[in-house]
Amino acid sequence: VKAKTRSFTGKSDKTAEIGVIGAGIMGGGIAYVSADRNIDVVMKDINKSGLQLGLSEANKLLSKQVDKGRKSASQMGDVLNRIQPTLHDAALESTDLIIEAVVENPKVKEIVLAGLENAAPNAVIASNTSTLMISGLAKSLKRPENFCGIHFFNPVHRMPLVEVIRGEQTSDETVAKAVRYVEQLGKTPIVVNDCGGFLVNRCLTPYMLAFNQLVLDGGDIAIIDKTMSKSFGWPMGPAHLTDVIGLDTAEHCVESMDAAFPGRLGAPEVNLFKIMVENQRLGQKNGAGFYNYV
Ligand code: NAD
Repeated sequence: VKAKTRSFTGKSDKTAEIGVIGAGIMGGGIAYVSADRNIDVVMKDINKSGLQLGLSEANKLLSKQVDKGRKSASQMGDVLNRIQPTLHDAALESTDLIIEAVVENPKVKEIVLAGLENAAPNAVIASNTSTLMISGLAKSLKRPENFCGIHFFNPVHRMPLVEVIRGEQTSDETVAKAVRYVEQLGKTPIVVNDCGGFLVNRCLTPYMLAFNQLVLDGGDIAIIDKTMSKSFGWPMGPAHLTDVIGLDTAEHCVESMDAAFPGRLGAPEVNLFKIMVENQRLGQKNGAGFYNYV
């Protein structure tokens, strides 16, 4: 991965209205931080309960701001009113940037992305994928030049870095639009070339796989976490981090990184995250992961 150092000078007017597809952990967070920066958001999911989760997350974060005296109740209402939940692609027509944040499954993403091109012909389309190559996802598109990666980190409202990924056919204008939007959010964009996992997850995946192997070898989860956080100084240990990410997402990420770099990342034969998912332990999202949350 090479970080791009040249500047992008394409037309990049301020983003006024975005679409967010998938109202889960990431989509809900992206909708919240965008609305909080005065950007109108159309948030789409396939079911009402998904939309409800995305909205309740925004509600929770805003309530904390009100409790701390950083926002008034009416400012909170203004932010929430900027998020328009929908189950229909038609509502996306007026958006100028759409961020796809559905499950980390290339087949699902390709279908969703192709549909977005038809729903909003003038919008720049971006994927929040953690690990899948942008050039690969672009194969399902008629206008791959309008497509890039905008990879937020979790939790979206706290993490300052956002990777902007330039696929093989991504235009300078598209990269410029993405960079400008990330800056509008007050976050730090880094433009990277395309590969499985981009920059951050190329570094993070071997760490998560080493944790995976350590647990399979009998390592104590609480001791590993305490060592990596309290003693080593990271904000949280790998078990806690995986619970925050979601075990299902972690499972898919490990699989797609192993497929992108076969035999190079030291993936154990057994995918511990997959076993966790099979046992309905999805992490904080369903209250049970490496730790229990209810
Ligand atoms: P999630 O499971 O919390 O949410 C996914 C949402 O997408 C769900 O609400 C689901 O109903 C919805 N969805 C599924 N199919 C859909 C469709 N066809 N149309 C509209 N909505 C659909 O997942 P997440 O953790 O938010 O991850 C989403 C994406 O973000 C993935 O690509 C993931 O790799 C990436 N990502 C995740 C993290 C993380 O820490 N969880 C961090 C960075 C990037």
